[in-house]
Amino acid sequence: MNAEPAEATSDNGGDHGFRLSYGYGTDRGLRRELNEDSFIASDPVFAVADGMGGHEAGEIASGLCVRTLGSAPQLATGARTASAADLHECILEADSRIRNATGARAGTTLSGVVVVEQLGLPYWLVMNIGDSRTYRLSQGQFQQVSVDHSEVQELVDAGDITAEEAATHPRRHVVTRALGTGDETEADFWLLPIEEGDRILICSDGLNGELGDDHMFRILSTVGHPQDAVDALIQAALRNGGRDNVTVVVVDAKNVLGEGAVATTAPRPVAAVEDVDTLPRPVVADAVADAAADGAAPSGGAAPSGGAAPSDRGGNGN
Ligand code: MG
Repeated sequence: MNAEPAEATSDNGGDHGFRLSYGYGTDRGLRRELNEDSFIASDPVFAVADGMGGHEAGEIASGLCVRTLGSAPQLATGARTASAADLHECILEADSRIRNATGARAGTTLSGVVVVEQLGLPYWLVMNIGDSRTYRLSQGQFQQVSVDHSEVQELVDAGDITAEEAATHPRRHVVTRALGTGDETEADFWLLPIEEGDRILICSDGLNGELGDDHMFRILSTVGHPQDAVDALIQAALRNGGRDNVTVVVVDAKNVLGEGAVATTAPRPVAAVEDVDTLPRPVVADAVADAAADGAAPSGGAAPSGGAAPSDRGGNGN
C-alpha cells in the first residue's frame, strides 16, 4: 500500500459527524538498500508492518500483511463493526499467507488501529505484534499504547535495564513475536475510547529508534496537519541518522461526539470498556470464543506476557 497518494481525509458521514483526517509516509532511510516496511491508511484501518528477512523477503511479508488487512470484508471502507475476534482471524490469515509465500523465512511486525463503534461511540481498537509502535496523544498526554514484543522490553519488564538503556542495547532489534515466522504469532489488543482531538501515531522502529518520545511529542503537539506531522517526523528521523526504514501514519479524530452532542449524548459506558483495555495472548483466544458464544465484548486484564523464539531483524546490527 506504499503507492497510495500522500494524503487523504475521511468523513464517515455517520450520525455523529465524526471526522478522521490522516497523513502517512515512508522512507528507505540513509543506510538500508531496500524499504521492507509497508503500511495501510484506509479508514477504518491504519497500520504499519516492518518486514524482516532481507533480500526482498521482508518486503513480501510486510506487503502481504497489510494487503490481507486491506482486503478483509470486516475492514471495508468506512466500516465500524470490526471486533478483536475479526482482527485476530485476519492476522492469522496474514501469518499463514506469509508462511506459504516465504517458507517461514520472512516475517513482519504489525501495529496500528482500527476505528470501531460500540453503542454508537467510537473507539480505537489497537493491535500489536512485534516492535512497531502505536502511540496516542490525548488531552495533552503522549503515551505509547502498544507494548513491544522484544528482548529488550522483557529486560525492562524484569527490571534488568531501563527504557533509556533499551534504546541503545545491542539486542534491541530482536523481536520475540512476529507474523510469518517463529512460534509466537499472537497479537495483543487494546480498546480505547476516542476522545475529542485524539492524535494516533503509528510507526516502524526506524522512527522511535532515532527519536525519543520527547522529540516525537514536540512535533506531534506543534504541527497541525497530520500529513505535515508525518513529514516532519520522517525528516527528523533522517536528520538523526536514518539507520532504518522509517514509516509513519498519523490519524486525528475530530468532532467525536458531533454537533450539540453535549446536551444529548448519554455518558460513555466506561465500566464496560475498562475491562478490555488489554487482551493478553491467553485471554484473546478465550475472549474470542466467549464473544462468539454470547455476543459480548471480549474482556481481559493482565499484562501481555513475553514470548519465546526470538528472531533477529535484518541482522545488520543497528
Ligand atoms: Mg525496522
